[in-house]
Parts: sequence; C-alpha cells; structure tokens
Amino acid sequence: MTGKLTFDDLKSRVKDGLIDTVLTVFVDMQGRLMGKRFHAVNFVETSFKETHCCNYLLATDLEMATPDGYASTSWQSGYGDYIMAPDLDTIRPVPWLDGTAMVLCDVLDHHTHAPVPHSPRAILKTQIERLEALGFQAKMATELEFFLFEKSFEDIRKSGFRDLDPISGYNEDYHILQTTKEEGVMRPIRNHLFAAGLPIENSKGEAEAGQEELNIRYAPALDCADHHSIAKHAIKEIAWQHGHAATFLPKWHKDRVGSSSHVHQSLWKGQEPAFADPSRPHGMSQIMEHYMAGLIKYAPDYTYFLAPYVNSYKRFAKGTFAPTKTVWSVDNRTAGFRLCGENTKGVRVECRIGGSDLNPYLAQAAMLAAGIKGIEDALELAPATTGDVYEDANAADIPQTLRAATETLRGSAFLRHAFGDDVVDHYTRAAEWEQEEFDRVVTDWEIARGFERA
Ligand code: ADP
Repeated sequence: MTGKLTFDDLKSRVKDGLIDTVLTVFVDMQGRLMGKRFHAVNFVETSFKETHCCNYLLATDLEMATPDGYASTSWQSGYGDYIMAPDLDTIRPVPWLDGTAMVLCDVLDHHTHAPVPHSPRAILKTQIERLEALGFQAKMATELEFFLFEKSFEDIRKSGFRDLDPISGYNEDYHILQTTKEEGVMRPIRNHLFAAGLPIENSKGEAEAGQEELNIRYAPALDCADHHSIAKHAIKEIAWQHGHAATFLPKWHKDRVGSSSHVHQSLWKGQEPAFADPSRPHGMSQIMEHYMAGLIKYAPDYTYFLAPYVNSYKRFAKGTFAPTKTVWSVDNRTAGFRLCGENTKGVRVECRIGGSDLNPYLAQAAMLAAGIKGIEDALELAPATTGDVYEDANAADIPQTLRAATETLRGSAFLRHAFGDDVVDHYTRAAEWEQEEFDRVVTDWEIARGFERA
C-alpha cells in the first residue's frame, strides 16, 4: 500500500475491509492536525462531502485556551461551527496506524461556504493564486529538524519536563554509527511516510546530541506544506509508538543547538525553472533577484510566521547556524538567505531563519507574498554578503523578540495588502496572547537567581 489514494481506491479498500478509519483533519494556527476519526464506511458514504468543527479551533493557543480579542470568534458570538471540507486529492494511507487513512480538509465558513481567510491552508492557497496570476508556480522544500529523547512524552511530562535525556550521547551530525542506533525509530518514520505518498529523500543526524533531520523532496508549495504537517505529526506519533518523545521546540536547552526549518524556494513556469538564467551572475534570473530582494526587504515584517513563540527567539544566537541578519550569501550558512544550486537548473534560495516550530503554510505564504512584492516592485537585489555575517554591522537584523516581531507584523502595510487586515489582525492577536501568557509566568530562572540574593 503506497502513495496517495483516489476516492475510488479508498472506497474499494473500505469495501475489502482494509481500511476502517479515516482521519479527517485540518491544520490549525500552530500547524497541528486537528479533526475527527471517522468510521470509514460513514466517511465514504456521507462525510466525504463535509463535516463540522467548533470555530474556536482557529483561535486557540497550544493549550486550547480561548483567548479574547479575536474578531472571527468569541464567547460573545457563541463559538459556532466551521465546515471541514475534505480535499479528496489528499487521501492517503496512514501505514503506521492499523486500517487507517487520512484526508486533509479546507476550512469553510458555516454560512457562506467561503474559505475562512485566517485558515493556514487558505492563506497559502491565496498566495499561490496571486503567484499564478503573475504566471509562476512555486516549488518548495522544508527541512524538518527535531530532537529525539530516551523517554516517552508521558514520562517526561510526569517528571515536570526535567528528565530530558537526548537519545544520543554526542553530536551526531552526519554520523552513521549513532544514527544506526536510532533506526528503530527513524526507519519506520522514513518508510511509513514514503508509503503514505511523501517523497522522502533522507534522514540524517544533526549537529547536536539527539538531533535529527528529515528531508522531503521539493514539491509544489501546497503539497510541500501538506507534507511537512503530515511528517511532523507522524514523527511525534511514531516516536511515541516506540516509547520515545520527539520535540520540535526550537530551543529545549540553553546550551544545546536549536532546531530549524529551512525553506528552499524556486519559481517555475510550467516545467521551466524561472529562477535559472545561465547568462547572468550565479545563473540567477532577473525574476529570482527581484524575488530574493522582496524576501530580504520584508523579512522583519514576516519574522513572526517563521518564529511564532517566545521560545522561537532563543534559537537566534551568534555562531549557532541560526541566522539573525536579513541578507543573502552564496553557500554561506551564517546569512538569513543562502543561494543554493548556483549556476544550475536547480538554483534556489534557502531561507534559514525559520525555527522547527513554524507553521509551513503561514511561513510559505508570507515568503511568497514577499517574493511577489519584490517582483511587482522590481526590487533590486543588493550584492551578496561574504564571511561571517554575524559580525557584519551593516546587515539588517530581524526582530530579536516575539514582542518586536509582533509589532512589525501589526505595522506591516505589505502583509496587510497581501493577506488582508483581518488575517494580520488575527495573527497579531495570537502573537500578543503568547507574550501575555509568558509575561504572567514566574520562571525557574528568576527564582533561582533572586530568591536569596535579590
Ligand atoms: P543539502 O545538501 O543542503 O541537503 P540538497 O541538494 O539535498 O541540499 O537540497 C536540499 C533541499 O532542497 C532538498 O529537500 C531538495 O528537495 C530541495 N530542492 C532541490 N532543488 C530545489 C528547487 N529547485 N526548488 C526548491 N527546493 C529544491
């Protein structure tokens, strides 16, 4: 059983008793799969058309709290319903769960049946349509970095998140010996996802003890975001099945390297790479230069979509491969944007700013919007920076805190034009709430530092 399923494939598997459960899910603001487990017979007979969910699901935080301040939903409006409309082009088996398939849904307004504008999948689809109107298609790849731990989520939670022993004892960057010891978890992750129709390229050890990377072959932007969300979910679920925890928290320890999600991007006209032009420097087309200039100019505006939590900003530190400067470089890992595949058909830009906690739909949509703006305004690309960009005083910084990123998001005329005021206001509120929640907490650090000595 490999690859995506047509609706007819699903129906025949249900009839043959091979599939009894259909996970009917959408992606929330945090990039998580939310939804219901349908009996497969019910799904293929009726629920394939639509199902419903409470509209608070696109207005909660990680803990499912119901913050005030959202225009789209509230206690006052009674927290009504959304329609979950299955996208029947996304049916796939879930080989790591018995007898199970999955379908991704679009989220629609209960009354008008129009897409809910702040739904992450709708936001990305809108930018893909804007790009299409300019005559281009985007292909993207997101790298997934995460840490595996010896213990399970349950044991770690019971220990108050203190028993955090990574699965390996040393930095395992590209190590075959150490990663062999982790094959009990990583091999099923690769193979199950491959069988679910994700074009898995490889996994490798990353530059810290217990740190892993999964690479998925680049794909049209919407597919890439779907792949990322399914893979992230599967990694946690398969790790859990094997008694381990996997975390995508960007910085789980102050002395350990953080986890990123680099995003590779290229534009195409049909089968032709619109970024490639062998007659120009680095083999980069004029369109690519404009696109990159937009990405770089507007990075402070959309940093929130690459780093949505307080913890996300702990990852940005000198000398850690997590960039803090919105400049570009050729094959240099200290800049926010890296040119890859120089002078080849595969010439592309990699954004290195995003953390492992980014929502791929929102991150890709924001970057497409910035690239589109660069093309529309024919922005000029500044020369590449060289050397250690961390030490380059002339290079512009991205916001260094969630508070700062919230304000650049709120004030972004470019994002308000590209996404609409409602969407920007919605995510600004999500960002504010995250900060408000953090500000309410008295941390262990403050107590240890000041209890006796203050
Ligand atoms: P590395 O050596 O850094 O791992 P790779 O050549 O393996 O680099 O590519 C990194 C990622 O870039 C892969 O996931 C790959 O699918 C993706 N990629 C390759 N070509 C393109 C392209 N033209 N557009 C977008 N992503 C691409």
